[in-house]
Amino acid sequence: MRFNPSSIIARKRDAYELTSDEIAAFVDGFTRGDIPDCQMSALAMAIFLRGMTTAETVALTERMLASGTTLHWTSAAAPIVDKHSTGGVGDKVSLVLVPLLACCGLQVPMLSGRGLGPTGGTLDKLESISGFRTDLTIQEIQQLTGQIGCVITGASSELAPADRKLYALRDVTATVPSISLITSSIMSKKLAENLDALVLDVKFGSGAFMKTLDQARSLAKSLVSVGERMNVPTRALLSDMNQPLGAMVGNAVEVDESLDTLRDAGPSDLRELTLELGSALLEQTGRTASAAAGRVILEGYLSDGQAYEKFGKMVAAQGGNLEAARVIDPGVELEAVESGYVKAMDTEQLGYAVIEMGGGRKVQTDRIDHAVGLQMFVRTGDVVGRGQPLARLFAAESKREPAKSMVQRAIIIGPDEPDELPLIAERISVAT
Ligand code: URA
Repeated sequence: MRFNPSSIIARKRDAYELTSDEIAAFVDGFTRGDIPDCQMSALAMAIFLRGMTTAETVALTERMLASGTTLHWTSAAAPIVDKHSTGGVGDKVSLVLVPLLACCGLQVPMLSGRGLGPTGGTLDKLESISGFRTDLTIQEIQQLTGQIGCVITGASSELAPADRKLYALRDVTATVPSISLITSSIMSKKLAENLDALVLDVKFGSGAFMKTLDQARSLAKSLVSVGERMNVPTRALLSDMNQPLGAMVGNAVEVDESLDTLRDAGPSDLRELTLELGSALLEQTGRTASAAAGRVILEGYLSDGQAYEKFGKMVAAQGGNLEAARVIDPGVELEAVESGYVKAMDTEQLGYAVIEMGGGRKVQTDRIDHAVGLQMFVRTGDVVGRGQPLARLFAAESKREPAKSMVQRAIIIGPDEPDELPLIAERISVAT
């Protein structure tokens, strides 16, 4: 078929539905380099402004997926599963969930990312473990997942290369926050793992990409519909990100908090969200008849030490040494300047405070300082007295001072008791 890229851009600009052939030709041309960045950017803007139907989003996802290779699995016995989070502050669920699922006999080849904006990245956190490799080859991912049951590594450039190219353009053309473009970006990478089931943690609130529950619901519905149309049982939880998940925000401090959770301790919100996501996958794959039954099994692997042991095996297989001491900078407490309720938190600012200390990147080339971090002593709804410690900042003094006032401003204290925040607001499946 001869096709004219500008007429496709014009059709989307005028709000017509594109055919799957038009979408395929455009994505293929862009991946090969025949369609220049300016035309792809124009189409991305037209999609951003006009949106896409589910059929168009599926076509876009399929073609971005087809732009690269996919993972292959020899053993059909164990279902291949993964979880994706849209990103949050203190979100360390993957470190606990991945070995837990592997204990249940599921195979989890998790492809993870680095920090994006104020949200931390799983790969950055794991790299605070001495020697841990996040650059496994496709062969290593397949082999280690078969042997141990799980890996956590970066996405290879061979998987969905069209997404990598398109994301770079979206980043500089203000077209990142489009439901269809986010859906095709996330799902093309996840489905390249050749999954039997996928669960999504779509976060909403002051520390999330999606600020409102409505936005998060729309994204979750789009992700679930595309997953199901592409024959991968997919569910989503909408989880609250109006305060950090757990107490720790940073890199080494988050690894330590994950290890506590794997040892059957740790903060209750992190444990709860991990169990909910894991039990959804156990039900989706038919490993258990209900999510409630799955939860009991997962709790058992936390209490008998098997999940911790599995994490140790995965770390060793990826070159890491869990026994090597992780350096954490000396901590200094920050106190409340007034009494009252913790009314709300500007969670995004808490994430930026950790970046200010060096725990995240301001520009892509920045090196992460794994030793800095933040420990929260309070949760929204707590009553605090003047002078009571609110948080601890781990960093050398020169890095700590600018972050201190950011954290102080981000913890909002007032006279009125705020409404309670449910950790999981909704569950989204095809039926909802
Ligand atoms: N994460 C992704 O992988 N892609 C997006 O478009 C947004 C978040």
